[in-house]
Amino acid sequence: MNDQQAILDALLESIRDAVVVVDGERSLVRVNKAFEVLTGHCTRALLDRGDAQADVAHELINRAMATSDGGRWNGAIRCADGNDQHFEITVSAVNGPGAFPSHYIGVVRPTDDKTALGDVRFGYDTLTGLPNRDIFQDRVEQSILLVNRSGASVALLMMGLDRFTLVNDALGHAAGDRLLVEVARRLRHCIRETDTAVRLEGDKFALVMVIADVDDSVIVAEKVLTAVKVPFAIDGQEVVITFSIGIAAYPLDSASGLQLVKNAENALHHAKVSGRNQYQFFSRDMNQKAKSRLELETRMRRALVNDEFAVYYQPKVRAGDDLIVGAEALVRWIDPERGLIGPGEFIPVAEETGLIEQIGTWVLRRSCEHNKAWQNDGLLPVKVSVNVSARQFRARTFVDTVSDVLECTGLDPRWLELEITESMLMSDIEAAVRKMNAVRALGIGLSIDDFGTGYSSLSYLGRFPITTLKIDRAFIADVDTNPKTAEIARAIIGLSRGLNLEVVAEGCEVVEHVRFLQEHGCDTVQGFYYSRPVPAEDFGRMLKGRVLSGKAV
Ligand code: C2E
Ligand code: MG
Ligand code: MG
Repeated sequence: MNDQQAILDALLESIRDAVVVVDGERSLVRVNKAFEVLTGHCTRALLDRGDAQADVAHELINRAMATSDGGRWNGAIRCADGNDQHFEITVSAVNGPGAFPSHYIGVVRPTDDKTALGDVRFGYDTLTGLPNRDIFQDRVEQSILLVNRSGASVALLMMGLDRFTLVNDALGHAAGDRLLVEVARRLRHCIRETDTAVRLEGDKFALVMVIADVDDSVIVAEKVLTAVKVPFAIDGQEVVITFSIGIAAYPLDSASGLQLVKNAENALHHAKVSGRNQYQFFSRDMNQKAKSRLELETRMRRALVNDEFAVYYQPKVRAGDDLIVGAEALVRWIDPERGLIGPGEFIPVAEETGLIEQIGTWVLRRSCEHNKAWQNDGLLPVKVSVNVSARQFRARTFVDTVSDVLECTGLDPRWLELEITESMLMSDIEAAVRKMNAVRALGIGLSIDDFGTGYSSLSYLGRFPITTLKIDRAFIADVDTNPKTAEIARAIIGLSRGLNLEVVAEGCEVVEHVRFLQEHGCDTVQGFYYSRPVPAEDFGRMLKGRVLSGKAV
């Protein structure tokens, strides 16, 4: 036992609060002496798995984790003497090396608060059932502790109904209350289980969220504004209300929980005075960023309608004889004002807003149409690869969409390949494999794009029904000069051979790259050495010539 462990043990046994620790699977790992004193249940018996008494500890943890605000529960539990006692338990997660918490720690305290029975719970607003101010501050602090470890951010959305007093005055307080209940219900629908919606007072609400990217708070703010915009039916009357929202983020613009709350309040005030029915960030940078993001989204929607997107093609070439064997379809946006915009600039926003599904389907259809047209013209038949984003792939309708496109365009499925990335597959392996199988059943190819940059869990690779691996260009860039990169590239080529997969190298810019790959058994290459992505007509011309000579050495 090391020093730290000994200190931890002594600490656990000396504190008055009862502590329960379970692992990620919620198996009981430890309870302290205070727990025994508090509940009367013997510690050793508790740790004997399968013992009925262990249920007490489990029940407390499970109840707390099942609450809508995930982590706090207050209620009665049967003690060893047969009497029911009131406890309050607060659970916090311990982050492990993986994506999920490795342990959960529950701190149990006795409470006199008998209101815990039934629906009325400590810390909850009796009207709407949302957590109230008592819980709010604690939740803000807890979230801050959590992100200090994980590197994520806390967003606080402070929200006030605009002109709520008008509703109260016109329809009476009972109607006002019903409106608040309905607002709370809609708010709950806008957030994830891990976020907390709070009613602070009167017509003031708050959302506490742990987010990976500050942009995520914009998405939620927009969702909230849209959700409350739908008229409410109160006592047979249609009531239209709006929200003003102030947003602050920790650690971006606030250094503490207190400051976060203050800044979000300030931002809310700013939103109210600048015209209501909108959100405002505390920091000017964020306001600017949110504004340009919104503009981009609006312009993208318009671009879809105005046909401003185009598909460019980058040839894939067989290095041995320079024959074109395929192409990757790459979307471009030709904005009448700003000119050519690359996918790196708009795909991430399209992904966040959901527009990627429309754009992706459009690219897929266009690519199949082009390919079919080239074949109808008697040109060399080639396989076209289309990139699929995470959100597209996850959509329930995805396989049907692909199948529809094939049917409508009449393209033989063997001339189509979809490119997906490793990271899209790792969150739910079973579901991903099912979907990949469904795609493969249509007769089209499946390629793992940017291979080597994602999670690279080789153990799963054998389970994925894929046909191709694409070596990321990061491993090609210095393949001819850096022995380590060369070794990785060689390993990926060997791996593909072993798994009987086709292997394509992307980002081949110079003849040395091509030579290296050819020497090591990777025949199909793609990159500026042969050609940049080009418009469809240009690629049609390349197909007519069948071979590409590559840059002069
Ligand atoms: P990707 O699928 O890995 O595409 C390859 C990217 O590498 C392309 O950038 C291509 O122009 C670039 N590239 C090709 N050869 C070379 C080379 O020799 N050197 C260098 N430095 N770069 C090279 P692009 O067209 O800007 O696309 C960027 C990313 O945007 C793509 O990466 C893909 O993830 C995404 N994307 C493009 N089109 C679509 C689309 O229709 N749908 C979706 N979901 N994503 C797309
Ligand atoms: Mg790709
Ligand atoms: Mg790639």
